Amino acid sequence: MFLEPGFKSQRSGWIEVICGSMFSGKTEELIRRLKRARIAGQKVQIFKPSQDTRYDERQVVSHDDNALLSTPILFSSQILDIPEGINVVGIDEAQFFDMDLTRHVQSLCLKGIRIIIAGLDMDFRGNPFGPIPDLLAVAEYITKVHAICPHCGNLATHSYRLSEDEQTIVLGERDKYEPRCRTCFGMGSLLSFPI
Ligand code: ZN
Repeated sequence: MFLEPGFKSQRSGWIEVICGSMFSGKTEELIRRLKRARIAGQKVQIFKPSQDTRYDERQVVSHDDNALLSTPILFSSQILDIPEGINVVGIDEAQFFDMDLTRHVQSLCLKGIRIIIAGLDMDFRGNPFGPIPDLLAVAEYITKVHAICPHCGNLATHSYRLSEDEQTIVLGERDKYEPRCRTCFGMGSLLSFPI
């Protein structure tokens, strides 16, 4: 389990990335870290892309209803508009943001802010997704979480799209995607239903 380094002992902030496939618990881990910071009296601000409207507009919501209020934004530059005194910034579904997110995150860090980012590392084709690869390169701490493949029980690293939509971004949950290990992902539609 991830343990935070001492906050006061560092001059600048730092970047944490929590990545993995769908249904791997990324948002739950983000919420866990943000709640602990808030209980410690730290001021927390949370952002998510406004195009992610699967759940409530203003909440970072995970599958277990363990939710925190968030601010939906369209452009990554809007994370720079945080009020004075914020200690921790959380960003959910970061794969949907523009590629400038990495630059803006680093400038917030230099102001002493801890940044915690959650996002899909791969899209439904298994390719690196949006700004997540760049964020992984500049992060101090990386946590890769996994789901369980419903076909074979191995660790699932990929998000398999059950529909035939070809766009990179298709919002959906269990109706549209299932987690798969690398082997079962490669078998594609030969495995239509979990065994
Ligand atoms: Zn599998």
